[in-house]
Amino acid sequence: MAIATLNPTTGLVEKTFEPHSPDQVEQILERARLANAALRATTFAQRREWMHRAADLMDADLEHLAALAATEMGKTIGTAKYEVTKSANGMRHYADHAEEYLADETPVEASAVGASVARVIFQPIGTVLAVMPWNYPFWQVIRFAAPALMAGNTGLLKHASSVPQVALYLGELFERAGFPAGAFQTLLIEGAAASALIDDRRIAAVTLTGSVGAGAAVAEAAGRNIKKSVLELGGTDVFVVAPSADIAKSAQFGANSRTQNSGQSCICAKRFYVHEDVYDEWFAAFLQAMTATVAGDPFDPETSFGPMATESVRAEAHELVADAIAKGVTVHTGGELPDGPGWFYPATVLTGVTPEMRIYREECFGPVACVYKVASIDEAIALSNDSEFGLAASVWSSDAAELDRLQRELEFGAVFANGNTASFFGLPFGGVKDSGYGRELGKFGIREFVNAKTVWTA
Ligand code: NDP
Repeated sequence: MAIATLNPTTGLVEKTFEPHSPDQVEQILERARLANAALRATTFAQRREWMHRAADLMDADLEHLAALAATEMGKTIGTAKYEVTKSANGMRHYADHAEEYLADETPVEASAVGASVARVIFQPIGTVLAVMPWNYPFWQVIRFAAPALMAGNTGLLKHASSVPQVALYLGELFERAGFPAGAFQTLLIEGAAASALIDDRRIAAVTLTGSVGAGAAVAEAAGRNIKKSVLELGGTDVFVVAPSADIAKSAQFGANSRTQNSGQSCICAKRFYVHEDVYDEWFAAFLQAMTATVAGDPFDPETSFGPMATESVRAEAHELVADAIAKGVTVHTGGELPDGPGWFYPATVLTGVTPEMRIYREECFGPVACVYKVASIDEAIALSNDSEFGLAASVWSSDAAELDRLQRELEFGAVFANGNTASFFGLPFGGVKDSGYGRELGKFGIREFVNAKTVWTA
């Protein structure tokens, strides 16, 4: 795939970019290597000041950046502005909390291990390669970059080939804010080249957000080189509705979750398990909310969600729907490729999904909901856990004991009760099973790429 801005609203190429040559990649790696020493020599206070300045730069560039995201991957201008602002605030969070997250720890009394001093100190490990996707082109990168830089690591960004202008902006941002030259740079290279780069001794670790295939390629290279990796690979997330749930609210939130970002969110609801006692009422409200959405021009404020980001992502989502239709699924709304330019896809609601259909198990990265009627919470839990994935779940009930059970028994990286799944600066984010390993955000996220060094003195 070429590195290009291909506007998903029109289907037209707006700008193409030459990938960096081997010589340019070499220069970037060398700059990163040299920047490690410079960054290590800085204090938290210094990095805090630069990180705040970088956040302020993003705020100042808000209109331009939101338009870039809407043009390169099709999200609505309102959600793009929200993402840019969230990214700037995420940077402020790490600016203000990194020192506390990485403060020395004394897990045991020194005397208990025969020492006068025994503690753990957290130190940077060097250059971390970040392979990132297009769905939240700013936020996915910032939630890696802010903790990495605050911990004293340098970063190399290999962004998705479909968002090169966002990638180039982010590759300059931190130096503009005062970080040492080479502290955070963008590599314009394609996916396979990124995996090959992991063999280079100047790369200490790698983090990837994306598909299972790309994650496996990166993890394989990291494993071969004994390098740390963190993977965030999406999922087939569930939305469970118990009889005591707030029906109107959960139906509207379910529709919002399934259509946000044109259904291209790793943590948004994909499988809906609704208790039979409230199924008819809930389904009617949900279908109405899904049908009321408008897929349209991301710059039009009336639009609910924009086009899908790329032609191939839309084709993959539609393939899953077409396969289900061929095997007898019931389509209540949507399910057809619209005429006209751009990679639009309508909100789609399916029932009667069976295990023979690919969409029963595979992730559908589009605004397509599979709704199932269940006879009990036991059945909802069993079906939810019968998946290769385990990223996030949203559960709805007014019974505290039932919520507690759901939150404990669902095998996911996060279970949200009476609200939609989301990422928060201070809370860990990540999955189990094929959804990946390791955590981003909060204290857990910043500690993924540090040396937890034991310091012992007799
Ligand atoms: P990919 O996983 O292919 O892309 C994500 C990132 O990985 C991009 O930067 C891509 O680069 C890179 N990449 C791809 N192949 C390799 C490789 N062999 N080695 C190293 N890096 C690689 O996702 P797609 O854009 O193709 O989307 C396909 C599906 O992935 C979606 O339908 C969805 O299911 C899932 N996905 C999940 C996301 C999440 O948030 N968890 C985000 C995006 C996608 P390049 O763009 O140059 O190919």
